[in-house]
Amino acid sequence: MWTAAKLERVRVVYDFTSADCGYCDDRALLADGHRLANLLGFIEIEEDGCFQAIICESCGVVHCQPGGWVAPRRVSQDAVWMPCFDRYLPDQEAEYRPPGYLTNAGVLWFEADAVRELASLVPILDPRNYPALVARELPRLMQWDAPGLVLGRPGEAVSIRRDIVLACDEGDVTEQLTVLEELLNSASTLTQAVTSHSARTLAFYLDLPGTPEWHPLAVDTDGHRSLALRRNVGCTYDQSQ
Ligand SMILES: [Zn+2]
Repeated sequence: MWTAAKLERVRVVYDFTSADCGYCDDRALLADGHRLANLLGFIEIEEDGCFQAIICESCGVVHCQPGGWVAPRRVSQDAVWMPCFDRYLPDQEAEYRPPGYLTNAGVLWFEADAVRELASLVPILDPRNYPALVARELPRLMQWDAPGLVLGRPGEAVSIRRDIVLACDEGDVTEQLTVLEELLNSASTLTQAVTSHSARTLAFYLDLPGTPEWHPLAVDTDGHRSLALRRNVGCTYDQSQ
């Protein structure tokens, strides 16, 4: 997981002569040096909100080259870009695989300030128009970002690798993992929109080099536990079917 801090729109020129289209003068979107989208004038938002962020630089045609696909979602005042989990199936892996920045650095969060900046820089990517993140997307989002594949390999069923969870900074680790497992299971069938709130998150320590911390559970002041979107951010959704 990472957060977009410094968004920039920069000029780009591509050689489209092999497609008989001369030179293309367009804009790209950068965040902290990462190129989030390379041809802003050619983006096409599909019905489910997904779009190809990294488009063929020889012709500008969406789908000409595989990969570079993003599923953008709204979460309260924030937004997230994540892989197109509903399309990113093993047999279609190449076509809808996410751009390298989601693979290498995890899902990308836009906090409220970045949301406003993105809306003004690139109106077609205005996060206010994104579909809301829904509960059933949480397990795969959390799996994508979990350190050490502790929720399994993306594309496989989400399940906790308890053998690599050493401890939790509060309560009994086995009990906390059982609550986490129940929350992940119940979320996986719910289509209700997710909202976020700041909350204390529990640290689980993993049996991996450097003993990394993992923050998948949030605890409210009344002790109520919920799935955590990231460190110090819990989430809420209507749990009735
Ligand atoms: Zn092309």
